[in-house]
Amino acid sequence: MAEPSSDFSQTASLEQRVAAIEAVFETHGMQPGPFIAGMTHAAAEEWVPQNGARVVAKAWADPGFKQRLLQNGKAAVAELGLSMPAHHRHLVALENTTSVHNLICCTLCSCTAFTIIGLPPDWYKDLDYRARVVRESRTVLREMGLDLAPEIEIRVWDTTTDTRYMVLPQQPPHTAGWPEQELAKIVTKEVMIGVASLALPAAS
Ligand code: FE
Repeated sequence: MAEPSSDFSQTASLEQRVAAIEAVFETHGMQPGPFIAGMTHAAAEEWVPQNGARVVAKAWADPGFKQRLLQNGKAAVAELGLSMPAHHRHLVALENTTSVHNLICCTLCSCTAFTIIGLPPDWYKDLDYRARVVRESRTVLREMGLDLAPEIEIRVWDTTTDTRYMVLPQQPPHTAGWPEQELAKIVTKEVMIGVASLALPAAS
């Protein structure tokens, strides 16, 4: 009996495999084209980190909203007209403090609260990252440019199908009193994942 071949040079490209799947759908009378176009549009135009940035800015500016966000994230973001898929049953906002830094990941795959903080970056899905971020989070963060003081506790939160997270960063002191629109501009996807921080004073 022949040995199984380890020559993958004949493997179809990603594009070829996608085209083959689309062709199968069409064979069965389904129309993948409009669905893919709709999802592509949503990913580019609707599921953007500016949504979460608005949430963070509102929480900084409005203590009542912040309390509601910490108690029931999904209900709080709905106040801003933001929705989540039905299977994202919970949105948990994780508040950073001077002594606690929160960091989210998905050790199984790629889950995020993507309608709120945007789609996961490629590095978030990387096997090495997913394995290391839970074992040596401080080292991983340092490699990504976030060197946290040793006395700051790092809490790593592993996303599941029904529980999604966003990090609520500390508001930089110099932004006190800024309008929400201006506050939202400084909040990035990386900050809401927890691999970047706004609390550190800017280097001079
Ligand atoms: Fe996942």
